[in-house]
Amino acid sequence: MDTTFTPEERVFRDEVRTWIKRYWTEELANRIADKSTFKEAQTELQKLLNDQGWMAPGWPEEYGGTGWSVTRRYIYNTEMARAGVLGPADPMVFGVSMVGPVIYTYGNEEQKKRFLPKILTSDEWWCQGYSEPGSGSDLASLKTKAELEGDHYVVNGAKIWTTYAHYADWIFCLVRTDSSGRKQEGISFLLIDMKTPGIKVNPIIGIDGRHTLNETEFNNVRVPKENLIGEQDKGWTYAKSLLTHERLYVANVSQSKRSLAELKKLAEREWAGGQPLAADPYFQQRISDIEIDLMALEFTELRVLSAAAAGKEPGAESSVLKLRGSEIAKALQDIKMDVAGYYAGIDDADNNANHSFANKTRIDFMYGRASSVYGGTNEIQKNIIAKAVLGF
Ligand SMILES: Cc1cc2nc3c(=O)[nH]c(=O)nc-3n(C[C@H](O)[C@H](O)[C@H](O)COP(=O)(O)OP(=O)(O)OC[C@H]3O[C@@H](n4cnc5c(N)ncnc54)[C@H](O)[C@@H]3O)c2cc1C
Repeated sequence: MDTTFTPEERVFRDEVRTWIKRYWTEELANRIADKSTFKEAQTELQKLLNDQGWMAPGWPEEYGGTGWSVTRRYIYNTEMARAGVLGPADPMVFGVSMVGPVIYTYGNEEQKKRFLPKILTSDEWWCQGYSEPGSGSDLASLKTKAELEGDHYVVNGAKIWTTYAHYADWIFCLVRTDSSGRKQEGISFLLIDMKTPGIKVNPIIGIDGRHTLNETEFNNVRVPKENLIGEQDKGWTYAKSLLTHERLYVANVSQSKRSLAELKKLAEREWAGGQPLAADPYFQQRISDIEIDLMALEFTELRVLSAAAAGKEPGAESSVLKLRGSEIAKALQDIKMDVAGYYAGIDDADNNANHSFANKTRIDFMYGRASSVYGGTNEIQKNIIAKAVLGF
């Protein structure tokens, strides 16, 4: 890709690299990795990005976006992912990539003024209240109820898998405001302050051993009706628009490129059968296959991003990105687990570099299983592709 960059784009790439060198210190990375300092340190990083004007590259300039070309966004994402500054599970996605675009597209002027600046400054963190204990793939069957009483909605029900709800200041929720018609028709999109009485966040510990997930209960939670986005009962339209934005960036090409580079380094270091893995033809074949798949995905992502930059709403293409992106990310983690080999079962209490590497690989592998589930499962993406692209 390098050869296609203009001199101005190369200057921009150097600017991003200089920023990373200056601000992405080992000390900050370690504080973000430590759960006791995570929120404070992650907020610090996001504030630094915002000071530079880089917090929400995809937003329109009038709301604080960058107005970058697709190539600049590509450079930015690649450099940030290569250095490990931005990752697929960043808490900022809920504000910047999900609710932000819904607010500036469908919200009123007061809502834009009230919420967008605090997403940019990270003074308010968001989480997503879509899934429920009985509603995942069939999201429109959701039952969390909101009844209008005077100038408040009264919300009752439960959301599940609410990532980072324990850190969030606000939650955007899909709620049922009418049950009489088609199930998609009586859904509304509400913004709810997490400090409102009646909200209870119950932790769910994942198979990776970490606490990122929660169940969030709502018991007679009173929400001012000004917090409704757009029209009552029309929330399904806004919800779907948010999901296409969510899926647009879920291909995680830059992060997979970083994983591939790490894998190549590991293959030099780890030995099997008297030679480094990098010299094993079978291993080389696996790496080459995945590199080719990743390159093809990268070009697809660039095509979709160009179309989006030209004003075309991403449609079923974002499902292709989600599907292939998660398959490739998981395949890379599979190979890394093979490289970790027998270190994988050992605890890293002794801080041995090999054990830590294997432990991290195991944790990433465990969490990584979820990439074909969150943002809509891969089976559902296949249904969308079959319907919208192949016409079945
Ligand atoms: C790590 C993680 C983080 C998450 N974070 C959030 C969050 O922050 N906020 C939020 O709202 N949600 C979140 N989710 C929830 C996620 O969106 C749902 O898990 C997902 O939509 C699937 O729903 P489900 O788990 O109820 O599975 P189900 O819908 O019960 O599906 C079970 C299985 O059946 C298959 N299936 C279902 N219907 C069909 C069909 N029509 N055709 C073919 N196969 C089908 C599915 O593909 C799946 O394999 C998260 C999930 C995970 C794993």
